[in-house]
Amino acid sequence: MSRGAFRTDRLDLPTVLEMQRTAGNLAVTGLLTRARRRRPPPRRVQRAPLDPKQDPKGYTQPQGVKNVASSGTTRRVVTVPGFGVTGGFKAEYTHRRKDPKTGEMLEVRTPSAERRMTEQSPDNTAVVVMPDVLDKNRPVQVVLHFHGFGFRGGTDPHAGYAVASGRSKNAAHGALGTVRDVDQEHWSQQIGAVNAARGATGPQTVAVLAQGRGRSEFGKVPTFPYVRAVLDAVPELAGVSDYSIVLSGHSGGGATQVAGKVADLRDAATPPADGTRPARPADVVVMFDAEGVVSVMSWAVGKVRELAAALEADPAGGQALIDASPRFRGYFAEWGGYRTPYITANRMLKRALATVPAAWTLAGSSGPGTKVEDLFRIVAVPGVRHETVISKEGPATEGALADALTASTSPTSDRAQALPWDARTVPELKAAKARAKAPAVQPLAVQRDDPAVPAAAPAKPRATTWKTSDAASDYALTTADTTLLGSQTAAERAADRAAFGTAQLSRIRALTKAAKKRALIPEETTELTDLQALRTKVENANRALRRTDVEEILDDAGFTVAGWYGDIQKGSFLGVPAKVHTSLADRLTQAETALVGDAAVNPSGDDAKTLGATLGMYGTASDLRAPKNAVGGSSLSLHTFGLAVDLNYKGNPFLGNQGKTAPDVVARATSLVTGTAVDVLTQLGDAQASFTALKDANDALTTYFSYREPANRPLLDAKLTGRTAAAGEPTDAAGWIKVIEQDHAALKDKGDFKKHKPPEEGFLDLDERVVMALTGAGLTWGGTYRTAKDIMHFDLREGDGGKVNKARIAHTDSR
Ligand SMILES: [Zn+2]
Repeated sequence: MSRGAFRTDRLDLPTVLEMQRTAGNLAVTGLLTRARRRRPPPRRVQRAPLDPKQDPKGYTQPQGVKNVASSGTTRRVVTVPGFGVTGGFKAEYTHRRKDPKTGEMLEVRTPSAERRMTEQSPDNTAVVVMPDVLDKNRPVQVVLHFHGFGFRGGTDPHAGYAVASGRSKNAAHGALGTVRDVDQEHWSQQIGAVNAARGATGPQTVAVLAQGRGRSEFGKVPTFPYVRAVLDAVPELAGVSDYSIVLSGHSGGGATQVAGKVADLRDAATPPADGTRPARPADVVVMFDAEGVVSVMSWAVGKVRELAAALEADPAGGQALIDASPRFRGYFAEWGGYRTPYITANRMLKRALATVPAAWTLAGSSGPGTKVEDLFRIVAVPGVRHETVISKEGPATEGALADALTASTSPTSDRAQALPWDARTVPELKAAKARAKAPAVQPLAVQRDDPAVPAAAPAKPRATTWKTSDAASDYALTTADTTLLGSQTAAERAADRAAFGTAQLSRIRALTKAAKKRALIPEETTELTDLQALRTKVENANRALRRTDVEEILDDAGFTVAGWYGDIQKGSFLGVPAKVHTSLADRLTQAETALVGDAAVNPSGDDAKTLGATLGMYGTASDLRAPKNAVGGSSLSLHTFGLAVDLNYKGNPFLGNQGKTAPDVVARATSLVTGTAVDVLTQLGDAQASFTALKDANDALTTYFSYREPANRPLLDAKLTGRTAAAGEPTDAAGWIKVIEQDHAALKDKGDFKKHKPPEEGFLDLDERVVMALTGAGLTWGGTYRTAKDIMHFDLREGDGGKVNKARIAHTDSR
């Protein structure tokens, strides 16, 4: 039903429920009040639950789910009119990004997979996690949490805290009925364990998980009015008035929400004079692998300086001042993409702590009690990915969330986990590594275009699968190159190139072949010698020109040829050998590790090579290439820089690169077989959507060519029964057979299919899970290109490869 179809004069129950699902409670309440004006004030209507088929666990039922995962906590979805997003999930999200070259602001559009990921509306919605039984005599601590991006098909798991539809083929999007908080981040399990461990006296933790969309967009959610509205929407919590706040964010939620809300945080409440009940504890900020950690640290640094001044002024009141102070915990994946900003934040913290009187520091006082550095702490979480920082990868009842909640009331509990002050950033580690190798090497800069891309992830010193294979000597401009270029003009080189084309190349081949069978006549010998000399001259000049280009591009990107090509490594991806730059090697390892460690993909726990064979990988990788222009492009290929790899070359051609012949055949095949013509030269969406569309088209093409077999004629006849031919299409089976044979002849060993598998075997044999793991590691897949689809191709044009890619595109080739 579309929103335009609602009629306020026909507000029967199914209509209202449907409207609530799609239009949101506030809008519906408004309509109801307009329709029945005699019944003010507007009633709050609970959002309609999902059909049990879409929500088998019953998470969206009004009562929620009690004792989730045996945690002793209840999970309930609440609607809070007036707060949060409205209008549902969008089809795409836009953001603005500054062009580093021109300084111009560019609008970037990214399609959303949310509507595929869940059937649940995000409108005015939050998830509440609370004890099954709330003890009225214990204080309450409310965690207000904001999730990261949850919309990109290739990278993001779960659309916020909505129930997964299971419709997405990307396993990261969750199986039917799963939710991010229970199945991935373990909120219920960790909160249940902390509440139990606090016994009968400590605060009881309740979590408010705000539901957002897109790029961590949450609508209007002012800290205290929002929490108040959520608590009021839960009868068991409606009476809770004096609570402390734990303001928490993961990934993009850190920058869009937490960074702006830290100013709201409060000191602990003064304990009542009679001492009968515990005071409200101080508020806490927690950042889980989050954007904006440096900004939040500026707030923390201000708190440290205030506290230092107060301790200086009132040494006797020291412990009370410390106990009343707000706290901070920052957690990051030890070798993930957020390492560098967290280490920057750690250094800011160290400088601020230097102003604290010695008696209140660990170094200055061995006495018991909480020191100032116990209040503000950064922790590196080992062995986790960006999406598992909150849960860690161990028992569900343990994790960084549980650690943070424990530290909120026992700030000394995690002293041993504190990040050392001398921890180093990724660029520093790379620089150190490079210095140890060769003095000319420059450090690689770490770039993050987008939050939540676990992309820049494992810069971790890797296992032994990759070995350095210095390729600098193949790329460095030699003295001979410069001498050669200096001895020619660009016009002379252009003339040489014009004089040596495909005709001359074939002539060399013919004469060489002839020379093996018979003696060449003197004229032929002279011709061959001259042609070979010209070829050598053109090749030498071209090599020198491209080496010049490589040097200029790397220089523009801030690297040296020796440094960049000194970081070329040899190794393998799923058993397929590859020679690539270390930054791409990192991503390939990241994707491989994800596949090998995924019990659904690799149930028997095979090694990478064995799993590769199971997933249909075969050894025809094309990786680091001698300097030459990109296939179908004018600038040097990313392959030249070791930033691209072609996988399963034979079965995955560059479709549409050699004109429209192959795309036209695919359009005809999909029209006949599926009823909808697919144009592979158009944009097909994100990696997931592109894969699905291309796979369907691939299957249609193999079916189409299978009609060439006489035995399959009945299948073609069946396909044509009752079918209306589109313009230009044959109208009967005989006509189709003729076209199919022509199409087959047009593709086999020609154009896009030259040197590839025969067209009846299709154009896509990569396993979907391999493609999704690679794009999930931040690589760009040629199947997502705007026009022709380079299906074999994966490259690193963002992250560490971003600078080189930008310089490559901006560069003008030497002539
Ligand atoms: Zn390629």
